[in-house]
Amino acid sequence: MNRRAIVAANWKMNGDTKLVSSMVESLSGYVPPAHTSVVICPSYPYLALMSDKISQQGLNENIALGAQNANEHLSGAFTGEVSTNMLTEMSVKYVIVGHSERRSIYQESSEKVAEKVKVILDAGLTPILCIGESEQERIEEKTEVVLTQQLQPVVDAIGVERFKDVVVAYEPVWAIGTGKTASPEMAQATHAFIRGYFANLNEEVANKVPLLYGGSVNASNCDELFAQADIDGGLIGGASLKVDEFKVICSAAKGS
Ligand code: PEP
Repeated sequence: MNRRAIVAANWKMNGDTKLVSSMVESLSGYVPPAHTSVVICPSYPYLALMSDKISQQGLNENIALGAQNANEHLSGAFTGEVSTNMLTEMSVKYVIVGHSERRSIYQESSEKVAEKVKVILDAGLTPILCIGESEQERIEEKTEVVLTQQLQPVVDAIGVERFKDVVVAYEPVWAIGTGKTASPEMAQATHAFIRGYFANLNEEVANKVPLLYGGSVNASNCDELFAQADIDGGLIGGASLKVDEFKVICSAAKGS
């Protein structure tokens, strides 16, 4: 199999300088499980501080920095936006893209998400591409159609080969921040569908692409979720703001 596991913290619009310090201090001396990457995605204003602290503590080998968004343009008159060049200067390695909150609150279409994935890859950064169905879509058994509709524009924009450098996070919208987690069996079945989608296009890519589960992952459910064959780690929201709990979740990851 040979896939890295990834546990990524999505702080959303939470956290402050105190949390940056306590998270990095707590992770100092922490060694993630073999073949596992730990990624922390604070808000933009904390990227430089976190990058400095990671370097000061000599943690560059064990912790990577991520951003929660990037603009699809390289520079220009886009007030309030942040480019991939700026993120690279801040030592960012990963960028979350297509999170359900961006899709629903900021009307980011799958085509816009595809443009962003391309720009992120072109900058040498790793996109964490989020996809997932709403509760209504799950009830109406449209999950597979919705996931395909979210993935296809990205495949069309970058080609399936480039998915070797993409991380996909399956995040059922009804499980994000709700305390309702997909059962390990349901999550595995959906991850197997996503891997199958890639296998139909390119077997090698399907075997390589890390598929993360996200949606109310915590210290109590991470072991069972991460034990599933097609779940290669998690994208963690609320629980990633709790320093000790986040470490427990990271330790449950199983890369190979
Ligand atoms: C997320 O926002 O990506 C997420 C998974 O949040 P939570 O873990 O809080 O459900």
